[in-house]
Amino acid sequence: MSASKTGQLQRLDRAHHLHPFTDFKSLGEEGSRIIERAEGAYIIDSEGNRILDGMAGLWCVNLGYGREELVAAATEQMHQLPYYNNFFKTTHPPAVQLAEKLVSLAPEHMNRVFFTGSGSEANDTVLRMVRRYWALKGKPEKQWVIGRENGYHGSTVAGMSLGGMAPMHEQGGPCVPGITHVRQPYWFGEGRPAGQDPNDFGIECAAALEAKIRELGEENVAAFIAEPVQGAGGAIIPPQSYWPAVKAVLDKYDILLVVDEVICGFGRLGEWFGSVHYDLTPDLMPIAKGLSSGYLPIGGVLVGDRVADTLIEEGGEFFHGFTYSGHPACAAVALRNLELMEAEGVVERVRDDLGPYLAQRWGELGDHPLVGEARSLGLVGALELVDPETGERFDKALGAGNLCRDHSFASGLVMRSVGDTMIISPPLVISHEEIDELVDKARAALDATQRQLAVTTTDKIKESLT
Ligand SMILES: *Cc1c(COP(=O)(O)O)cnc(C)c1O
Repeated sequence: MSASKTGQLQRLDRAHHLHPFTDFKSLGEEGSRIIERAEGAYIIDSEGNRILDGMAGLWCVNLGYGREELVAAATEQMHQLPYYNNFFKTTHPPAVQLAEKLVSLAPEHMNRVFFTGSGSEANDTVLRMVRRYWALKGKPEKQWVIGRENGYHGSTVAGMSLGGMAPMHEQGGPCVPGITHVRQPYWFGEGRPAGQDPNDFGIECAAALEAKIRELGEENVAAFIAEPVQGAGGAIIPPQSYWPAVKAVLDKYDILLVVDEVICGFGRLGEWFGSVHYDLTPDLMPIAKGLSSGYLPIGGVLVGDRVADTLIEEGGEFFHGFTYSGHPACAAVALRNLELMEAEGVVERVRDDLGPYLAQRWGELGDHPLVGEARSLGLVGALELVDPETGERFDKALGAGNLCRDHSFASGLVMRSVGDTMIISPPLVISHEEIDELVDKARAALDATQRQLAVTTTDKIKESLT
């Protein structure tokens, strides 16, 4: 695309398009990067730059770009039946087949799925289901849902209320009542409590959950919701001790476990679900993103037998659903996506080959002066940026993470920043060579960031002297 065409699109974008999670004014001043095409693990912008997509879109393009089989699945379904709903005792083949496939992949005790259009809608569904479940059980006072600080469960009103992102709560609140949050198992981010072993910290976080349950009263608590590995919060891998300790707490009390698999599901951690990796037995699992590799929007909630049986046997009509719940074209693409993942052994390859290889190569970045911690699990990874002088976080005002992200983009790698945490979540079909490229480009971005910050710091010192 010509430079003038890019400029024209940027002008129209600025004039008419409000982007998600964006400072509208500053984007207007800088102009958007326009992504035109993509293939494999690369996106290509309107200036012809090939950029390695270290984020798989938004944690979703698990099979990579340009998969003709997924395009064909959508096209065939659109010809056959572009839309019909699943309300009022009707359905269509793709929705039924996808439900059956999902159940075959899910933990044994999960045999039902409720479809939605997105992860946020899945979590809205979760909230309604857990409260409905307890009402049917004759315990309507079990209303409270406990989430975690800095957890992410979507951007609808229920999604953002279940999530623990303070800046989201501050806009458009108050949040849905009856939702509260406990401490996140983020050892580095919580200041690496002096001398404390991460596993002791993990147990402390589980104890905070128990304390919250006691404070609210077990008889008032409906569910605990968490991501196996926090994604949007900063690719936060909990200490090994955390999930077993949380399981022990939940086993003590009669509280539902909701495991948000929107990112961790479908191979990201080297198993079909994060719950399998951490040996969890969820009552509900919201899913989306990698379900269709992002080719079409679809989400859902996998429902364990305990909740499903009650809703079915005792519930009567459940007054909830979306026009696009189980949309035929989206379901057909998701089904084909899962079939391809199975046929190509994608999940096993993440577990046995790509995950360990990324852990080794990404781990090497831990020796960079700007990096206080390098961590990864499966194909999700993070770098914690620190001031080389002190080993502590930079002054927030420096925006080190954003600088690093911009250098990364400029060098041909999409790496995202969450504060001063750099995160990656590449397509699950990335090759060893592409992982090498990813690590090299991340290192180059760290170098460039370090040089820029050194200049900034020198300038500040000069300023203070004059
Ligand atoms: C992205 C995400 C959601 C929300 O999904 P949308 O499809 O954006 O509504 C929910 N939970 C988690 C863990 C996510 O990462």
